Amino acid sequence: MKIILSVLLIGIVLSMNGQEQKAEKVKVVTETKANDKKESELTIQENVTQFTKLTELEKYVIINKGTEYPFSGKYYKFEEEGTYVCKQCKVPLYKSSDKFDAHCGWPSFDDEIQGAVKKTIDTDGIRTEITCNNCGGHLGHVFYDEGFTDKNTRHCANSVSLDFIPKPGNKKGEQ
Ligand SMILES: [Zn+2]
Repeated sequence: MKIILSVLLIGIVLSMNGQEQKAEKVKVVTETKANDKKESELTIQENVTQFTKLTELEKYVIINKGTEYPFSGKYYKFEEEGTYVCKQCKVPLYKSSDKFDAHCGWPSFDDEIQGAVKKTIDTDGIRTEITCNNCGGHLGHVFYDEGFTDKNTRHCANSVSLDFIPKPGNKKGEQ
């Protein structure tokens, strides 16, 4: 009787081990699949987060090349030190040190971060459109020879097309 019991017990233990090993294998496979999924989801998510989801007004300006109402934009009367980035793709476009007040109702810059802004003559052949060189988002127009600053250049940008990253530890009023 003892022997039979022992054999039975050994049998049970062995079969349990077998099941555990099987379960272990299944678990490993599932985990690997879950990891793969996570990785591919991450890649997609990263791509998505590079392009901010736009509001209707932002779409109207950035995608359909519209213009925000003058004097309405967030960055028109805005003098903090930092960097203006593309609203859609977050690539740096303008430095606050190049911003000036042209009294025109839109944020104005007399220079761009090198290579960040693309200039294209409008279809009417008169004005020069400025777009983000990375994502093609519409920024506004650039005008020359107006005499506002030494650089004689005015990037007239829509606030809606921009986002602002304050210079770390050097915000206005903190000095
Ligand atoms: Zn962009």
